[in-house]
Amino acid sequence: MNNYVFGPVPSRRLDRSLGVDLVPFKTCPYDCVYCQLGRTTCKTIQRREWVPLEDVFVQLSQALEQRPDYITLSGSGEPTLHRRLGILIRRIKTITDIPIAVLTSGSLLWDAQVREEVRQADLVIPSLDAGDERTFRRINRPHDDITFDRLLDGLIRFRQEFTGQYWLEVFVVAGVTDNEQQISRIADYARDMHPDLVQLNTAVRPSSEHGIEAVGNQRLEALAGLFHPPAEVVADYHSVQMSTKHTTDVKRILTMLQRRPCTAGQIADGLGTHPNEVSKLLGSLIEKGQVQVLEKSGNQFFQASV
Ligand code: SF4
Repeated sequence: MNNYVFGPVPSRRLDRSLGVDLVPFKTCPYDCVYCQLGRTTCKTIQRREWVPLEDVFVQLSQALEQRPDYITLSGSGEPTLHRRLGILIRRIKTITDIPIAVLTSGSLLWDAQVREEVRQADLVIPSLDAGDERTFRRINRPHDDITFDRLLDGLIRFRQEFTGQYWLEVFVVAGVTDNEQQISRIADYARDMHPDLVQLNTAVRPSSEHGIEAVGNQRLEALAGLFHPPAEVVADYHSVQMSTKHTTDVKRILTMLQRRPCTAGQIADGLGTHPNEVSKLLGSLIEKGQVQVLEKSGNQFFQASV
C-alpha cells in the first residue's frame, strides 16, 4: 500500500502538522514556476478518487496516536481534486477533534460542490499570487479552463460561505510580482475576501523553473505593508534544523546524487520520504554548495557538487 500520510512534521504555521496526500505526485490544475516539486506531470481539473479513501483513512487513524496539532490535507498536488474530500473530512471529524487544514491553490473553488466540501474544514489556506490574468498565466500556468476571473470568483464566494479560518497565501516571485503595482492589486482583491490573515511567502527552496529566486526579507516586509491590515511574512529563510533522521537522509541524498542527477520526486521515491521534506533538505544542500541544480528537458535535476 502506498503511503498517503506523512509526519507529523514541524511546520512554521501549523506547528506539528500531519500531512495527507490525496492525489498522486504533481497532479494539479496549476504548474507554478515556483513549485518545489518540479513540473506538473498531470495538469487536470478532473475530480476523481485519485487515491483510495479507505487506505487514507486507515493510515490517518493510526497516525493520530502521535497527536499532531493539525491534520493538513495538502501534499504533492491539489487536494481538492479528490472527489471524496468532503466524505473524508466528515469521517475524520467522527474520530478526532484535531483541527483540519486544507492547503489549496484555490483553483477549483468556483465549483459549488468543491466549496461545499472544503468548508467542512477548520482552516483553509488558498493562494492568490497575481494581480491580473497575464501574470496569473505566467506564474501559475493554470489549466486552460481556469481564468483569473474564475479564480477570484471562487475565492470570494468561498469566503462568503465559510465561517472557519481563512488565511490567504501570496507567493511573491522576484522580478515578476515583487513590485507595488502587482501587490497593491492583490491587496485590493484580498480586501474583498476578508481573510483572517494574509501571508507572504517566496521561493526559499529550489523551484521547478530555473532562475526563480527568493525576494529578500526586507522587501517582503515592505510589500506586506500594502495589505490592510498588513500581511505577515512566512517565508522561512533559515536552513532546516537537522534531526538525526534529516542527517541520515542528507547522507543518502548525497550518495544518490554522486551516482547520477535526480529530480526531487526521484529522490523522494528512493528515500521513501515525502517530496516536501526532500525539497527542504535540497534547499539546505544547495545553500551550502554541496548540490547543484541542472535544467534538462524542462525539469530540474539535482547533482552532487564535485
Ligand atoms: S505549488 Fe502547489 S499549486 Fe502550484 S504547481 Fe505546485 S502543487 Fe500545484
